[in-house]
Amino acid sequence: MANEYDVVVIGSGTGGYVAAIRAAQLGLATAVVERAPVLGGTCLNWGCIPTKALLEHAHALKIAQDWKEWGLTIGQASIGLDMNQVQSRKDKIVKGLTGGIEFLFKKNKIDWIKGSGRLAGKGTVEITDGDKKTLTAKKDIIVATGSQPRGVPGITIDKKRIITSDEAINLKEIPKSIAIMGSGAVGVEFASIFRRFGSEVTIVELLPRLVPIEDEAVSAELERSFKKQGIKVLTGTKVGSAKVGANGVDLEAQTPDGKTAKISAELLLVATGRGPVTSGLGAEDAGLAMDRGYIKVDAQYRTNVPGISAIGDVITFEQPGHPQLAHLSSAEGVALAERIAGREFRAINYDQVPGCTYCDPEIGSVGLSEAKARARGFDVAVGTFKFGVLGRAKIAGETEGFVKIVADKKYDEILGVHMIGPRSTELVAEATLALKLECTVEELIRTIHAHPTMSEAVAEAAHATHGSAIHA
Ligand SMILES: Cc1cc2nc3c(=O)[nH]c(=O)nc-3n(C[C@H](O)[C@H](O)[C@H](O)COP(=O)(O)OP(=O)(O)OC[C@H]3O[C@@H](n4cnc5c(N)ncnc54)[C@H](O)[C@@H]3O)c2cc1C
Repeated sequence: MANEYDVVVIGSGTGGYVAAIRAAQLGLATAVVERAPVLGGTCLNWGCIPTKALLEHAHALKIAQDWKEWGLTIGQASIGLDMNQVQSRKDKIVKGLTGGIEFLFKKNKIDWIKGSGRLAGKGTVEITDGDKKTLTAKKDIIVATGSQPRGVPGITIDKKRIITSDEAINLKEIPKSIAIMGSGAVGVEFASIFRRFGSEVTIVELLPRLVPIEDEAVSAELERSFKKQGIKVLTGTKVGSAKVGANGVDLEAQTPDGKTAKISAELLLVATGRGPVTSGLGAEDAGLAMDRGYIKVDAQYRTNVPGISAIGDVITFEQPGHPQLAHLSSAEGVALAERIAGREFRAINYDQVPGCTYCDPEIGSVGLSEAKARARGFDVAVGTFKFGVLGRAKIAGETEGFVKIVADKKYDEILGVHMIGPRSTELVAEATLALKLECTVEELIRTIHAHPTMSEAVAEAAHATHGSAIHA
């Protein structure tokens, strides 16, 4: 009957749309409620895809600016950017991908219900605007309402001078200067984009190092490279105030030595993290257990209310925190849809979720950092190999960075792989498979890596872990 489904998914981000497709593949009648005018959520529209498109432009500009080195016959002394073309290329990519999800919905006979979904009693979702109607879910409701930029107390985001990533991806003009608060993935990616586009960039991080969740050696290498590129880095620094003036924003910040730093920039980008989206969802009325706005779930993504599950950026576990990553929300969507369809539940190992940061140089990591491995009591062996030695890195003109392997001395098992340098966001796939298969360092050494490739750095780092690096 119309409006009756096995599964109703609220939110069409990488969590929701993937859960819906997997549920439909397994024979479940599925609807997705989405209130944005497009499918795909943050990742496709305001996150992963637009930022990586801008970073690719930054990379193209880098090659063009080094035209003499590359023997290109561009013949211009200064090479610039047409931001209208940059934006329209980015928008075309986004449109193609979101349209692709609409196609997949049709192919899998998934209904897109346009409007805001509200939990309205057992197995019921009310659409409060748009296609006003009530849907029933015989098996499960999946909440995948995602996240949005989170502000900082005392700093008003006016979306003109003080902006978030939502505005930064759509800028039609390159700011002369930009201050960035926060050096997580979003902050450092925009630092790379704007620096390459020609802005003066200052990045302010409260914690003592950039990309604080990465291995310490990676943070140190990124700081070194950023400084070399002319990005001002202020770590251990707390922004106290941000005042908007006629020409920009004036910040006052406390540096680690107790001094006050004054920073003036045309724009301030607040990239201090993202908070859960539950507005209009009726989560409290439905009785969902929450923690600081996030929906609490168990290891199989069940909320405390039978018949309602949740995945993606909007959820939280007891400990440790739940990473906000597109591929993780998708993996959770697949695992959950399979559980709802009565298949065996395949739990995700949260120690094996790769993280990629597409700044310049790129970062890819999976598993335990050296510090975490030691904190868990492992007798740790470490091997590091620098990209600079590799033929392929020299050919690409990208010789910064390294691959670092963290292993358990007792069983030789690989516990973590951390890399910063060319193609690290691709190379991390091999490391992720190695962790998934509980590979030993010896097995990685005996895996033949093609020459000349960047992946040779992974093999050499494995060799280095056993003290047998060939090219070092
Ligand atoms: C600038 C930026 C760059 C990023 N880059 C990366 C990256 O490179 N790699 C990576 O893995 N991750 C990246 N992320 C994170 C990634 O985008 C998120 O982890 C991912 O989108 C989470 O997916 P989700 O399905 O949980 O939620 P979302 O993608 O946020 O989707 C939630 C959807 O639910 C809809 N919705 C909310 N409430 C309702 C309601 N009541 N009714 C109907 N619809 C509703 C929203 O409109 C939205 O479309 C980035 C994020 C940002 C901001």
